Amino acid sequence: MTVRVRYGPSPTGEPHVGNIRTALFDWLFARHHGGQFLVRIEDTDQRRTVEGAEERIFDALRWLGIDWDEGPDIGGPYAPYRQSQRLPLYDEAVEKLLADGAAYRCACTPERLDALRKVQQSHKQPPGYDGHCRSRPLAEVEREIAEHEGRFVVRLRIPEDGVTEVVDALRGAVSFDNALLDDHVLRKADGYPTYHLASVVDDAAMAITHVFRGDEWLSSAPRHLLLYRALALEPPVFVHLPVILGPDKGKLSKRHGAVSVREYAAQGFLPEAMMNFLALLGWAKDDRTVQMSVDEIIAAFDIDGLGTTSATFDLERLTSMNGAYIRDLSADAFLARVGPWLEERLPAAVPRPVDAGILRPVAPLIQERVKLLSEVVDYTDFFFLEGPLPYAGESLLGKGFRNDRSGALAALTEVRSVLAGVEPWTAERIEAALRGLADRLELKPGVLFTPVRIAVTGRTVAPPLFETIALLGKERTLARLQDAAERLEQVAG
Ligand code: GLU
Repeated sequence: MTVRVRYGPSPTGEPHVGNIRTALFDWLFARHHGGQFLVRIEDTDQRRTVEGAEERIFDALRWLGIDWDEGPDIGGPYAPYRQSQRLPLYDEAVEKLLADGAAYRCACTPERLDALRKVQQSHKQPPGYDGHCRSRPLAEVEREIAEHEGRFVVRLRIPEDGVTEVVDALRGAVSFDNALLDDHVLRKADGYPTYHLASVVDDAAMAITHVFRGDEWLSSAPRHLLLYRALALEPPVFVHLPVILGPDKGKLSKRHGAVSVREYAAQGFLPEAMMNFLALLGWAKDDRTVQMSVDEIIAAFDIDGLGTTSATFDLERLTSMNGAYIRDLSADAFLARVGPWLEERLPAAVPRPVDAGILRPVAPLIQERVKLLSEVVDYTDFFFLEGPLPYAGESLLGKGFRNDRSGALAALTEVRSVLAGVEPWTAERIEAALRGLADRLELKPGVLFTPVRIAVTGRTVAPPLFETIALLGKERTLARLQDAAERLEQVAG
């Protein structure tokens, strides 16, 4: 048996990380077993379908490095891969179910269903269809449908009693009381199938062997199973994945900050770190291994490593994992990753293309420090900028020279003249000169170095100071110190 798994996103907006985790597990499972992974667009809810969402789903998958063997963009033996283009297949299934008496036409209007819901609410009864059209004489239902200009839905006839047992690969057998399942809709009045019908028909038609999906779908599984039986189809193996929680243990959602994959990409996360992180949301290789290459994850990924306990999306963990991945990049790979960020985000005054010769010696200083690729811009912009840096004169005082403008001015003037005499211009010599000066001025090194750092970088947080100064070169450093002194003259105090 060839493993075949599908990712069935609904094109309703930005792909959420929880949803993409499902895609990742699908893909890992298929690749582990040498099977096929396909993307099927589940666009049967016409009101919720969003223009462009399909492309964004593909972008998110591509960014992570997930490829697919069949899909709406590349076709495949089971095409089409968009449910809105497969309506005849669902109609065929509906006709068969109607002919067998496994489903029935329902003439109930939205108004009647609304009223029913209100009554159920007021009696604290669970919501659900009451079976009104299930047992009425057919002629009466048909007459009503004709009165409603031919509008009707088709519902599945759920057994009135007994239980439906779903076998989930993670949880084992889960029993559902049929009496608690209402006769749900299979085909809507607009002629489109519901998710239930479409996913069952397609999973069977596309020879899907394993269905991975969020455990919010577990309660739908008995409906699907009954539908497989009614259509005399073989159900796949169901794997309902545990929910992903935010740090406050609520279900991960927008209020926890970025939740779409694209937002993480835009913040400077590496796709391989993201993949590693997402893989560990509900799966583990063992009780130790944290950082893994894609190939290692594929080699180890299987159902027995999946858990049923909810997984927490810990942004701090993701961020530190990202930092580890950044540190592990080769120098060239780091430069290649960082390049586009600088091209896009450095101030317009910096000529394009960005001078790689400036970046190359600087890169090792920052690769150890950044946790996000986006941070590189703030850590390096002053190497690229010519002329005065964008910072406020007051910031030169820092804590050490608060209310002591003349002290700061005197210190920076000393720094300038000491550095003017440093030869050769190396980080070691610069460090020795500045530490010697701090001693002589009886200043704590930190107090002296803060205004120096701001003067030469315009920033309070920057790569290591002496290396930075060495790389900036003597001329630029002295000019920036001069400029800082002039700014201090303007500061009141
Ligand atoms: N279209 C469904 C969703 O967006 C897919 C659920 C499933 O995988 O069966 O969540």
